[in-house]
Amino acid sequence: MTAQVAETGQKPPLKVLLCSPRGFCAGVVRAIDTVEQALARYGAPVYVRHEIVHNRFVVESLKAKGAVFVEELDEIPDTTAPVIFSAHGVPKAIPAEAQKRNFFALDATCPLVTKVHREAEIHNKRGREIVLIGHAGHPEVVGTIGQLPAGAITLVKSVEEVAAFKPRDPANLAYVTQTTLSVDDTADIVAALKARFPGIHGPHREDICYATTNRQEVVKKVAPMVEAMVVVGSPNSSNTQRLKEVAERAGCRRAALVQRAEDIDWSTFGSIASLGVTAGASAPEVLVEEVIGAFAARYTVNVETITTADETMFFPLPRVLRGNEAAE
Ligand code: SF4
Repeated sequence: MTAQVAETGQKPPLKVLLCSPRGFCAGVVRAIDTVEQALARYGAPVYVRHEIVHNRFVVESLKAKGAVFVEELDEIPDTTAPVIFSAHGVPKAIPAEAQKRNFFALDATCPLVTKVHREAEIHNKRGREIVLIGHAGHPEVVGTIGQLPAGAITLVKSVEEVAAFKPRDPANLAYVTQTTLSVDDTADIVAALKARFPGIHGPHREDICYATTNRQEVVKKVAPMVEAMVVVGSPNSSNTQRLKEVAERAGCRRAALVQRAEDIDWSTFGSIASLGVTAGASAPEVLVEEVIGAFAARYTVNVETITTADETMFFPLPRVLRGNEAAE
């Protein structure tokens, strides 16, 4: 495309369909604000266990302000500085260890993840064996499994794994899910569970969160209307990866996940005339603007926003960080 610009001196036209909603969700805003407020209130350093949200740009920006990121609490020296748990949630052993070490812990777990933790606890109290639909190794899954004693929760990630699952008591089961899954894949897995175990208990409403659902829905609408789709976000962000998959399945021939404009592989796009743009729930809008700016340098861009839902969700900060309530 750069060659085309050089030959003709003119940039080819590109219609950009910008997905809305996209980018930051209420849980991510709360988690980032928790770190920023803690820095403003208590000064640096503030320790954060795991990436506060899965976005390198966000993490680097907070590092520059004095946040120190660690993977485990044993990397933190004895300190009175705040120790923040990431939006993905943590196993119960983590707050227990923090208490043992007298850390000033602040929990930035998204309230919608905490809701899943509570569901799992209730099922367990009622004596049900729990199936968790999710991706092995994702910190949210590790956190949810870690709410209960070992063996209480079995992880499944596919219809095939449902078929192979051997419960202790098939009549006494419940399921919960990771919040950032593919809506369609999860519906298939839940259907397989219900077909095998008709009495299985599940959430009243989906565990997949509103932000994941809404971002997938608008991508499903836009993907068939464009020749290519760019998803702005990090490869380790589950909801971001799902957006790329949803775009491909909805008929978009070229879908690319990019962290920043510099990651764009221009050979993927070639001579397209239409492009969809979205962003995962942990990707800041400034990076969406950067990516559109990079396309604008090569094409004459005309941006239209496609909106399928309005979002008004808001989660208050942990109590100790809230305005006048700080002294409580
Ligand atoms: S993607 Fe959903 S569950 Fe995760 S932080 Fe955002 S709102 Fe919470």
